Amino acid sequence: MADLYATLGVGPQATPEEIKKAYRRLARQLHPDASPEDPVAEARFKEVARAYEVLSDPDRRRRYDTFGDEGAGAGGRGGYDAGGFGDIFEAFFGGGSPFGGAPRGPAGPARGADLEVVARIDFVDAVFGCQQEVTVRTAVACDTCEATGAAPGTTPETCGECGGTGQVRRVRQSILGQMVTAGPCGRCGGAGRIIPSPCADCRGEGRRVVEKTYNVDVPAGVDTGSTLRLSGRGAVGPRGGPAGDLYVHLEVAPHDRFERVGDDLLFDLHLGVAQAALGVLLEFETLDGTEDLVIARGTQPGQVYRLRGRGVPHVHGRGRGDLLVRAVVDVPAELTDDEDELLRRLAELRGEPVAPAEQGFFARIRSAFTAS
Ligand code: ZN
Repeated sequence: MADLYATLGVGPQATPEEIKKAYRRLARQLHPDASPEDPVAEARFKEVARAYEVLSDPDRRRRYDTFGDEGAGAGGRGGYDAGGFGDIFEAFFGGGSPFGGAPRGPAGPARGADLEVVARIDFVDAVFGCQQEVTVRTAVACDTCEATGAAPGTTPETCGECGGTGQVRRVRQSILGQMVTAGPCGRCGGAGRIIPSPCADCRGEGRRVVEKTYNVDVPAGVDTGSTLRLSGRGAVGPRGGPAGDLYVHLEVAPHDRFERVGDDLLFDLHLGVAQAALGVLLEFETLDGTEDLVIARGTQPGQVYRLRGRGVPHVHGRGRGDLLVRAVVDVPAELTDDEDELLRRLAELRGEPVAPAEQGFFARIRSAFTAS
């Protein structure tokens, strides 16, 4: 959702006084009387009012600061609550809706819920991108009533109580004089219309719950924790309300050979002592095909060979990470007699002292060190 502070043009540290001032200034500027019939100003005015509604309430502001969502909000994420506007107008326009003179239409139908789904994808598919099917339980428009909620052959009627505005004004006499308050119409709930005979298939909701499958374009380079947002693929709102969004959270399966480190791929290459010392030419299977890999003479344990641009594509931007081959030198734990003899000859040539060949030599030594 939009940053409520940015909507009001203030910083997150703004005092209640500064928030109030910013709101009053914007409200005057975007007021329906100042720019009548301007849908952009009207939409902006709603946003500003919504932001103010949350930020002017210390509890809701705290929740918003903590959770990044209005949380306690009457309308929930993305949903506008018609009643809330009435409250704001009462508080800051001295009662009475600013739309009072020329009644505006009722609040539009509420937006549907955002949906979330987890998709598990293959490692290689995450690297190169793929098409992934996801199935969600969602709400779609009822086709029996064409999302109106009214039984076929009938139509919603204008609410007689509020004359279709969704708002009712009440005039009260008090010791301070005449008080005018505006609030959502109790009969139609602020919708401005009532449905005399609800559609039997959706019970007047104008939408139905179904399982729906979407084919999602997964871009190359995603990883576990990546989330894709499919705008307008969430549940539709009641009676023709616009759809929310669908969030697809990705979980990427591990690979049996490669470990992913950021956008680099890491492979542990096991080498024998002789291979590390003498060097070797290997055919190495990358994700893109086979490459010659030259392991140089005297390769040390932990030494890394880098193949540029054969890692994971950068999901936000161009290029790819690298493929890293790390040398792991395996020292033989078991030796045949011939191997034993050869290594002794090598040690002798290099002047390295080694344990004698005699059986049980170490059993007679008392050492404070233990192998771990
Ligand atoms: Zn229906």
